[in-house]
Amino acid sequence: MIIAIDGPAGSGKSTVCKRVARRLNLFYLDTGAMYRALTYSALRQDVDLTDKGRLVNLANDINIDLKASKSGEQIIYVNGVDVTKEIRLPYVTNNVKFIAKIPGVRHRLVELQRKIAHDKDVILEGRDTTTVVFPRADFKFYLDADQKERARRRFIELQEKGVSVAFEEILEEQIKRDESDINRSVSPLKKARGVIVVDTTGLTISDVVEVIINYVKKFSSDWNLWYAFMQLVSVIITALFFKLRTYGRENIPKRGGFIIATNHSSHLDPIIAGSRCPRQLHYFARLSLFSNKMFGWLIRSVNAHPIRRAGADKHALSLAEKLLKEGKGIVIFPEATRTRDGNLQKAKPGIGFIIGRVDCPVIPAYIHNTFKAMPRGSKWFKSVPVTVTYGKPIYFSFDDNVNIKKRNESYQKIADQVMDEIGQLKRKQCNA
Ligand code: C5P
Repeated sequence: MIIAIDGPAGSGKSTVCKRVARRLNLFYLDTGAMYRALTYSALRQDVDLTDKGRLVNLANDINIDLKASKSGEQIIYVNGVDVTKEIRLPYVTNNVKFIAKIPGVRHRLVELQRKIAHDKDVILEGRDTTTVVFPRADFKFYLDADQKERARRRFIELQEKGVSVAFEEILEEQIKRDESDINRSVSPLKKARGVIVVDTTGLTISDVVEVIINYVKKFSSDWNLWYAFMQLVSVIITALFFKLRTYGRENIPKRGGFIIATNHSSHLDPIIAGSRCPRQLHYFARLSLFSNKMFGWLIRSVNAHPIRRAGADKHALSLAEKLLKEGKGIVIFPEATRTRDGNLQKAKPGIGFIIGRVDCPVIPAYIHNTFKAMPRGSKWFKSVPVTVTYGKPIYFSFDDNVNIKKRNESYQKIADQVMDEIGQLKRKQCNA
């Protein structure tokens, strides 16, 4: 599992990460310590901090190692020497910004960070861990706090370490550091798509730790016994009546949020989409289906959520976003309504809107023959063979810096691309 946390200086990241790491038994990776370690080495070797070439060479040659002490504190070694204390001194803190803006340095440190995290369950923190290092982390958080509160925290931290610096000086340096982190052209500090923002002003460290652990726990409780039972019932029914065959189950991600985007021909589609899916799913169904108490209860119990107007219900869209951030799988019909003639229809932009807010994979899926089994208007189903094919995950990149008009166009483009993929699965199925 990878938990990535970004945020400005003094937002509480380090203390929170250490505690979460201890509670969840994760490796803690403080990426800021690596930028500090490099800055410290450069200062020790009297390297000119404007000499980019030398600094990149230093980054390539240096050996930075992070280990956890018995008490869970992180110890940082540079070429085998423990520099844990030295890298926190103000003269290092105030000079990191010169090093952190050099693309070659960042490239090298990001490579190291990925290498350290490889094959581990980690919690890592910094300024670009959710945007660059692990944009597909299982959980992404952005911790923030009011400017003065952050400076006050740093002041107390330094006092406790016996370093005496005036509060105003810390505040001034922090403002400069924030500006440099937010405005630098390479990997600036920003809120990643799908990041869970936690404002820690007025919260204790324990409060923030609980917020994070609760999110992670929700993710772990993905599995629900009743759903599993109902899924088994659906496996039997779909085998008996539709000889259901499923292809591409290996394309369903093992962890984290994802969307299954499939064509829509029949009321049977949600059952077919989820029947053999290795992960439990969440669905959206027309509000009117919940008006019958018994039926409403039944569909709610298998993770169906009401949607008012297909594709444009803000509440349903934000619920979809929340479920994905909690690491759940959801089923979306990009066409929003069932086909009238059995052909694929044009997608509505809703799915693009969700992807624009949460960076998660989309699994295109094609359901074959439910139009024959139970088209619009029919009260009962016919027993015909049905198949479902899950395609390879698609990841979309998204430009956050565009105006609303362009943004809306890109939602539609994403939705169209998803429908194209579903169309390709259909062609493959028909040619098979
Ligand atoms: O987190 P910390 O305050 O120790 O980080 C020190 C500095 O290192 C930050 O102000 C920032 O300029 C830089 N940094 C970075 N990218 C990271 C982590 C830290 O640019 N992922």
